Amino acid sequence: MQIIKHTGRLKLVLSRYRKQGATIGFIPTMGALHPGHLSLIKQSVITDDITVSSIYVNPTQFDDKSDLKNYPRNFKSDYALLKSEECTIVFSPDNKEMYPRPDNRRFNFGRMGDVMEGKMRPGHFNGVAQIVTKLFDAVQPHRAYFGKKDFQQLAIIQKLVNDYDIEIVACPIIREKDRLAMSSRNSLLSDQERNDAPAIYRTLLLVKEKFRNRNVKEAEKFVEERINKYTSLKLEYFQIVNSITLDPVDEIASTIPLTACIAVYAGSVRLIDNIDIFS
Ligand code: AMP
Repeated sequence: MQIIKHTGRLKLVLSRYRKQGATIGFIPTMGALHPGHLSLIKQSVITDDITVSSIYVNPTQFDDKSDLKNYPRNFKSDYALLKSEECTIVFSPDNKEMYPRPDNRRFNFGRMGDVMEGKMRPGHFNGVAQIVTKLFDAVQPHRAYFGKKDFQQLAIIQKLVNDYDIEIVACPIIREKDRLAMSSRNSLLSDQERNDAPAIYRTLLLVKEKFRNRNVKEAEKFVEERINKYTSLKLEYFQIVNSITLDPVDEIASTIPLTACIAVYAGSVRLIDNIDIFS
């Protein structure tokens, strides 16, 4: 596996592979890799001739400075994991490489960018779009792999990619044994927070089971009470949205695909999860 730190070198190496007719799969990450990330790598290794993964903690997508500072970083173990999955290239640029000058581009995702994560983390998706477009331009992959764990991000990338000839592959959420969604941030949880955190997905499962054909308000009240009864958990938002447009709905009716999305603070660690209501 090659480590590449500069965009120019990455483009040169990949152009050689492309000339040989190889297909390129790309998995952007912020590192602190876990089996959720590795499931994306595995999918690309199966599908594509060349697998490129990036490890870069992108400052422009953090609306909270302390979140950026505390974000887990572990390049040595990430490198070993990517190598064992037979990833071809790891691209690990620094800030000067990715932002030689400030990026003043402003993206507009319409209503899709204004709900949930977009509402709670102003500027987050603009930062995601800045880095993803820079990485897409550098890698020019045939396919890019994203996890459904970041459900709204996936929808926004799908919209963004209309301008590119790239297939977006949506990969299922990988969970711990107790079904907490795997996340780099889980390593920051205290014992108490880690104990309480599986209630997030259990609550989503109960919504799916009990609230079909009922009003979303009832589900919201149920979720708020259930999550907030754990001392270490605090609900930030719970929303049921049209899975395609991300428009919030009032009724949980099976006429359109719906996804229930949740963000919860476990102490100071922000966790997100989601569930498809009708699958
Ligand atoms: P991140 O490093 O958090 O930016 O995530 C990089 C990619 O891995 C994104 O496409 C995430 O959606 C995906 N990902 C993170 N956690 C999981 C998980 N538990 N299951 C599946 N995909 C995941």
